[in-house]
Parts: sequence; structure tokens; C-alpha cells
Amino acid sequence: MPGNENIGAEEFAEVKHLFDNGACLFRHGYDQSRNGIYKVSQFEKNFSAHMGVEYSLAVSSGTAALRVALAALDIGNGDEVITQSFTFVATSEAIIEAGATPVFTNISSNLNMCPLDLANKITPNTKAIIVVHMLGVPCSMTEIMHLANQKGIPVIEDTAWGCGGKYDANHLGTIGRMGTYSFDHAKLMTTGEGGMIVFQHKEDYEKAAAWHDHGHENNPHLPRWKDSRSSSGFNYRMSELQGAVGLAQLKKLNSFVKRQRENALSIIDELRTVNNLKIRSEPAKAFSTFDAVVFQTRSPNEAEHCRQALINKGLSTKILPEAITWHFAGLWEHMPQISKDNVTSLEKSKFLLQSCVSIPVLFTQQSDYAKLVKETVEKIVAANDG
Ligand SMILES: *Cc1c(COP(=O)(O)O)cnc(C)c1O
Repeated sequence: MPGNENIGAEEFAEVKHLFDNGACLFRHGYDQSRNGIYKVSQFEKNFSAHMGVEYSLAVSSGTAALRVALAALDIGNGDEVITQSFTFVATSEAIIEAGATPVFTNISSNLNMCPLDLANKITPNTKAIIVVHMLGVPCSMTEIMHLANQKGIPVIEDTAWGCGGKYDANHLGTIGRMGTYSFDHAKLMTTGEGGMIVFQHKEDYEKAAAWHDHGHENNPHLPRWKDSRSSSGFNYRMSELQGAVGLAQLKKLNSFVKRQRENALSIIDELRTVNNLKIRSEPAKAFSTFDAVVFQTRSPNEAEHCRQALINKGLSTKILPEAITWHFAGLWEHMPQISKDNVTSLEKSKFLLQSCVSIPVLFTQQSDYAKLVKETVEKIVAANDG
């Protein structure tokens, strides 16, 4: 979790700069008092440059980013949006908030959307596909984009994990029609709360920008109080405080990704030597950020034993197996919008996820961490053989 491990002087300097220059904490207006300081706008510009896109929109969270992206596509009542069963509740919540029905696919061995099951689940009502680069490993984008393009269905990339990762030289989030990011406290770069959307089309950007700001079109020829509007919207704006922190964090993103990969690969190298474990696979063209290292054991029971042994050694797991309730759609009985048939179709994904263990990857990883994880897990797996 590099972002929250590396927050300090640089972020504080950006916030101080904001306070030393008028302390306007709102992204729009107050032009006379703010000395030309627009942190959120600058953050969007820098993010666009980093990702190689023309349009970025900062918002208040990663969940808001998904909700605004769906609004930009006019998704609502009667529409279906397909996403993958291994994600976070936020992806489903954004679809439900839009008034649409969430539909979930099974996962492949890479633990992301299974393209074959995607093909099964497309209906005439499917209005969007949200792929999730879960824990920083890219989805099988070649197969998914091929199918989506064939059917004319827009793809949104939930890149809450995987910010700074790539697929075939393209930044994750820039392959589909829109990409959304989260800067919450657990993500690779953080602004405490915050999110971003990147766009391929100017029209989507303009619609999203207005919708996230009560319909304000920010007409340059009108003062804000007389601003033009074409639809209602909501308030998902990012504050200047978050923008200031984001500017400093973005400068560190490349170094976060580099170190995160080195640390993850050192854990993977160790775990590869353990019999009867399967390391999570990656698509061929993946450049993963590895927000965690995931491996599959032979059973849910074995996964649970691995977790207990890690905890006994003062180590921990991240999401799997302990937090599957928040991350697997087949267990969301509290969301009546998910159909029973859909849940029934996800049984094999449930078994797969319950059999997995996810190891946190830290920026400040101790040099003996990878070995300690391996030795701990190896003992459990060997004991189960005997
Ligand atoms: C974190 C997360 C989100 C939501 O981000 P917030 O900024 O916490 O609202 C969305 N999708 C996934 C897969 C996430 O992990």
C-alpha cells in the first residue's frame, strides 16, 4: 500500500502552497482571491499527461467515478451492466445507484472476468461492461474488447487497483471507453478519499463533468451562477485539498509501481518453489501493479489454515480468504437486485476464491518477508499432505 506509506513532506508542501495562496478549497471560481491556484484542474491535467489521454475528471471517490461514468452513458432503469463476481461491493453499488441491474460473470484462473462467461451473459439489455483489474492484475483485455466491440457495448475499466499498470503498453484505464480510479486509503496512490475518470471521447467527458457538478456546463461565457445546463446531476466534486495531495502522490506513482512490482515478484519467486500451490496467472501482455500476491491452495480449508499460520507469525492476508464477503458477488444477499439465477451460476468462482490466499505487498517490505511467507505457507501445505 505504497500511497499511505509514503505520505508526508511533499503532500504537505502542496497543501501549504494552497493555503499560502488564498486557501480556496473549492475547484471553481473565486478567481480574484486564489492567485491562479487550481489544484484539482492541475491534478487532472497531470493525470491525463501521465496516462496519455486527453480528458480526465477528478471526483470524490472511486465509487463516485463508477457512478459518474455510468451517468455519462445514460445508463438507468431497465438496463443491465455486466461486471465480474470478484470485485468490491462498490462496483455493484454504482450500477444499482444508476437504477440498472448488475449481472456478474465467473472469473478465470487470473481471477478476473472470464471472457467466455461474458459472452454467455450478454443480452439485448446489456448497456455496459465493467471489467475490474482486481488487485492490480489486468483483465484479459484482448478477448473482452474484441467481444464488446463486436456487440457494440461500451467497456468501463474499474482501475481502483492497478493505477499505473499496463496492458500491451497501454495504461490500465485507457483501453476501454472510460477508466475509473480510486485514491482511497488502501490504494496504490491516495488522497484519503478521491477518484478519477479518464475518457476516450470528448462528449463522454463533457457529460460526466456536468453530471458530477449538478449539471453545470462551466460555460466560459457565463458566470457560474448563470451557467448553462442540459440535465440535472449530482455532487461528486473533488476538493482542492484532495487535488493538492493528489499532485504530490502522482509524482511518486512510477516509483510506487516499480518498488511494488519488485517486492511482489520477490514473494512470487519464493512461492513458486512450494508444491501444490498455484500462483495467480496473468494475461500475456500484463504489466501488473500487484496490489497483493494471490495464490490458490487445494481447498477453502487449506486457505484458512494458511491465513491462521501467517497471523500466528505476525503476518497477515489481504482480502482473501477473510474478506470474501465484501468482494464476491455470490454472497451479496443484501442486494436484492442480484438475481438468484445469477448467484447460482457463480458457484465455481466461489470455490476458487475461497481456496485463495492473498498476501499484502508493502512498499516498506522487510528483506526477509518473502522467505518468511514462503516458509509459513509451505509448512501448512506439507502438513496437509501427510
Ligand atoms: C476501492 C474500490 C472501489 C471504490 O473506491 P472508493 O474510492 O473506496 O470509493 C471500486 N472498485 C474496486 C474494485 C475497489 O477496490
